[in-house]
Amino acid sequence: YLRAHCSPVRSSGGGILGSVTVFEDISTHKEIDRMKSDFVAMVAHELKAPLASIEQMIYALQVDCPYEALHSCNALHKRMIVRTRDLLQLIENLLNLSKLESGTVIFRLEPVRGHEILADIIDIVTPQAQSKGLQLDYKPCPHDWWINVDYDHLRTAFLNIISNAVKYTPEGGRIEIATSLAGGQACLVVRDSGIGIGKDDLPHIFDRFFRVKGKATRHITGSGLGLALVKSVVEAHNGYIDVQSEPGVGTAFSLHFPLAEVDAAAMEKLAAVE
Ligand code: ADP
Repeated sequence: YLRAHCSPVRSSGGGILGSVTVFEDISTHKEIDRMKSDFVAMVAHELKAPLASIEQMIYALQVDCPYEALHSCNALHKRMIVRTRDLLQLIENLLNLSKLESGTVIFRLEPVRGHEILADIIDIVTPQAQSKGLQLDYKPCPHDWWINVDYDHLRTAFLNIISNAVKYTPEGGRIEIATSLAGGQACLVVRDSGIGIGKDDLPHIFDRFFRVKGKATRHITGSGLGLALVKSVVEAHNGYIDVQSEPGVGTAFSLHFPLAEVDAAAMEKLAAVE
C-alpha cells in the first residue's frame, strides 16, 4: 500500500513550475489496522454469547421473583435489562463496524420500496418515543420510490439515527421524519427538538467513540459508535449524510441516496407471485 503526498513547486512570483510527489509505504500501518480490527471483532464476538445468556437469565429471574419482592425487584430488573441491552448494542455496533472497516462485509443491494423500510422503523421507534412523551410525526413523500439497499444494514443505520433523536430529546419534545425526492435522489430527514450539538463538537460526531461531553449528555448512556456505523453504511450505499444543529433548539440529520431505476409494475407482479 502506498500513500501519495503531492505538493506544487512555485516560482518566486508564485506561478506553478511543477510538482513533487512523495510516495510513502503504509503497508505496515494497514497490517496493524487489520490486526486491530480482527482483535476487536474477536473480543466482541466472545463477549456477545455470555452477555446474551445473562440477558435471558435476567428475564427468567423476573418471572420467578416471589410476589412480595416483586416491587423492589422490578426496578432493579428494569435497570439490569436496560444496561444489558446497552452492552449488547455496543457489542453489535463494534462487530459491525470492525467488519465494515476490514472490508469483509458483502453488501447485497436489492431494490426496496422506500416507504416499506420507513414504515418498519416507525413501528419500532413509536413505543420508544411514546414512553418519553415525544410527539413523532412521519411525513412520507407522496410518490412511490425505490432504492437499492442491503435491508438489514440500512435498517440498523436508520434505527441508530432515529433512536438518537429519541435519546437526545427531552420529554415532551418533537421528532419529525420526512422523505423527499429531488435530482434522482431520495432524502430522509430526521429532525428533533432536542439538546442540539455545539459547533465545536459537530465535526467530530461521526468519529468512532466520540461523545459530546457536558451537562446535557452526562446522564445519557452510549458508546459513540452509532454514527460512525451509520456513515459507513450510508457511504456503502453510495449515499451521503449531512447534519445541522443548534444547542437547545435541535438537530436535523439528512441522509441522501441515489434512487433505484425500477420497473415498479414489474416488481409488483413479482411480489404478488412470491
Ligand atoms: P452514542 O452512542 O453516544 O449516542 P453516536 O455515535 O450515535 O453515539 O453519537 C455520537 C454523539 O453525537 C452522541 O454521543 C451525542 O453527543 C451526539 N448526538 C448524536 N445524535 C444526536 C442528536 N440527535 N441530538 C443531540 N446530540 C446527538
